[in-house]
Amino acid sequence: MPSIDDATLTLAGRLQATAAVATVVAREPLSDALVEVTLATDPRLVGAPGSDVMVDVGKGRTLRRRYSVRRADPEASTLTLWVGVDHEGPGVDWVREVVPGDEVVTIGPRGKIALDPAASWHLFCGDLSALAAFSRMVEALGPGRDALVALEVDALEDAPSPAPPAGVGLRLVLAERSGRAPTDPEGLSRALATLELPPGPGHAYLFGEFHVVRALRALLADRGLDEAAISHKAYWRAGRANADHGEPDKSEPA
Ligand SMILES: Cc1cc2nc3c(=O)[nH]c(=O)nc-3n(C[C@H](O)[C@H](O)[C@H](O)COP(=O)(O)OP(=O)(O)OC[C@H]3O[C@@H](n4cnc5c(N)ncnc54)[C@H](O)[C@@H]3O)c2cc1C
Repeated sequence: MPSIDDATLTLAGRLQATAAVATVVAREPLSDALVEVTLATDPRLVGAPGSDVMVDVGKGRTLRRRYSVRRADPEASTLTLWVGVDHEGPGVDWVREVVPGDEVVTIGPRGKIALDPAASWHLFCGDLSALAAFSRMVEALGPGRDALVALEVDALEDAPSPAPPAGVGLRLVLAERSGRAPTDPEGLSRALATLELPPGPGHAYLFGEFHVVRALRALLADRGLDEAAISHKAYWRAGRANADHGEPDKSEPA
């Protein structure tokens, strides 16, 4: 049974977050590429739409991976994660192996990116790793708002479509990767080109592979979006495992 060590408590304190042992209550594949895991844990970990939790997936040593909260059930004190399993890594090993009843050390809520309350339209752009965050954020939009979603997937059936609440317009464009390298922004660039940005104040959220996020930031800036209206985060980096604290390497490409 995992326990919360002093280093984890110190880290959680420094991050102004909560450390808790979570119990796996369900694990269900949603597609060949995505697995849903539900954890019973301290409700304080849930955070706002856009936030994530750190999960210690290490075997015998601390190795944290970050996963966005897809949804939360406050009455059951559970939160749900959607974990992409189309690569090899300790996070994927964890989600392939967990069974209900397993326990895992978690820290949360993490993350600084939340919905922009001043925006009348919201553009979500990224890959499968971003779908949990995007889905929760879309579901949290108020009536009269527009959600534009551009998502790159290996296969169209990999990704459940985000379901907006009543009164929220959704425009969803799925880009099939079609064998392109994970660092290639072409698929999402083309998807974005098909999306007309509505009038009024808007906000873009870019989550995904390091090089792709960089390229799309520049592209949206070229389309006239203000830097302050673009929230971006590299979730992973092709060819380089995320560090033990869960962050991808953000050093400049050679
Ligand atoms: C704030 C935040 C929120 C995140 N939310 C989610 C989430 O909700 N769901 C989710 O699935 N992921 C999410 N991620 C991404 C996830 O944490 C990383 O993909 C993580 O690297 C996976 O760990 P791993 O041990 O499986 O692979 P690692 O050991 O990190 O990587 C091994 C190799 O696999 C490849 N790789 C890594 N990640 C991916 C990927 N996502 N797709 C394709 N190839 C990859 C790389 O080439 C890497 O060299 C999030 C990341 C951050 C920072």
